[in-house]
Amino acid sequence: MRILVTGGAGFLGSHISRKLVESGHEVLALDNFYTGTKENIEDLMKSSKFEVIRHDVTFPFFVEVDAIMNMACPASPLHYQKFPVQTTKTSVIGAINMLGLAKRLGIPILQASTSEVYGDPIISPQSEDYLGNVNPIGIRACYDEGKRVAETLFFDYHRQFGIEIKIARIFNTYGPGMQFNDGRVVSNFIIQALRGDDITIYGDGNQTRSFCYVSDLVDGLIRLLFTTTNVTGPINLGNPKENTIQSLAEKIITLTNSNSKIVSLPLPMDDPRQRRPDISLASKTLDWNPIVDLEDGIIRTIEDFRKRMLSGS
Ligand code: NAD
Ligand code: UDP
Repeated sequence: MRILVTGGAGFLGSHISRKLVESGHEVLALDNFYTGTKENIEDLMKSSKFEVIRHDVTFPFFVEVDAIMNMACPASPLHYQKFPVQTTKTSVIGAINMLGLAKRLGIPILQASTSEVYGDPIISPQSEDYLGNVNPIGIRACYDEGKRVAETLFFDYHRQFGIEIKIARIFNTYGPGMQFNDGRVVSNFIIQALRGDDITIYGDGNQTRSFCYVSDLVDGLIRLLFTTTNVTGPINLGNPKENTIQSLAEKIITLTNSNSKIVSLPLPMDDPRQRRPDISLASKTLDWNPIVDLEDGIIRTIEDFRKRMLSGS
């Protein structure tokens, strides 16, 4: 199949493109290189099965493909909050443009949604029928509400035009290839530990996240795309093992053998206090369960960061 991957030069998009090309598919990656880089796809550029086009999904795009994975959108709070209007436009207008393309071609389309649709959840773990607790005017709203409207659009295109949709609600994912300046917690802590800088915990460190290794997540997304049954989602994809941010910092200090000290910085507005996916739906429908535990995944990520730091890339 020829698959359009929007955000294909980003962290997840590049891993997905690599996996699809390795499986014999052709990939057309589309990216405006806001948080994505050419380095992420350097190896893929050598393959005749891969091509990339610089394009912003907020503008219409015409091409002939067999399926779409709509991954374009900055995922790190640091980057999505820097240009919040563009973030909402990317989610909403980007979804309209990609759904329009799927409608014209009559092809399936997968949406990279997020655990952020649950906001600061008051129940745990979060299952797909939980409607969420989102502040519509806070600093995270450009991302959360943008992704929520994108889900609405996906379901309305499905109900009104019969488009085949697949919505994945992705929980915190990490791994090799994350940008040093990404700003998300795993990459921040690893870089800080390797450089011997202070490890910056926002708030008291008792907030929780559940971290999924990138190969597990990519496996789940590709299963969802190719599932033959009429699975629309939304479907949670993530690792259900919950950790405090304090324990993550301590783990990374130990695994890097670092002398870094932990320091506390103010907790940003609306930072969710807890996050943990209920993945029983993914487990049952896709026969999918994450297999890489946090320690293994962090070790692999540290190795990748070390190599890239040494090579200066
Ligand atoms: P990322 O920032 O590394 O990748 C996003 C990619 O989209 C980048 O290459 C960026 O340049 C591109 N992009 C941004 N705006 C664009 C636009 N208007 N037009 C074209 N390209 C654009 O983030 P990621 O972690 O790879 O996340 C990918 C997708 O998965 C996002 O939609 C994100 O919301 C979703 N997601 C990721 C996580 C996670 O933990 N990684 C969790 C939940 C959801
Ligand atoms: N965080 C932190 N220090 C950092 C970066 C993040 O303590 O240097 C915290 C952040 O406040 C949040 C959690 O780690 O509670 C996860 O943050 P991230 O930006 O990775 O993603 P989020 O899940 O909040 O979107």
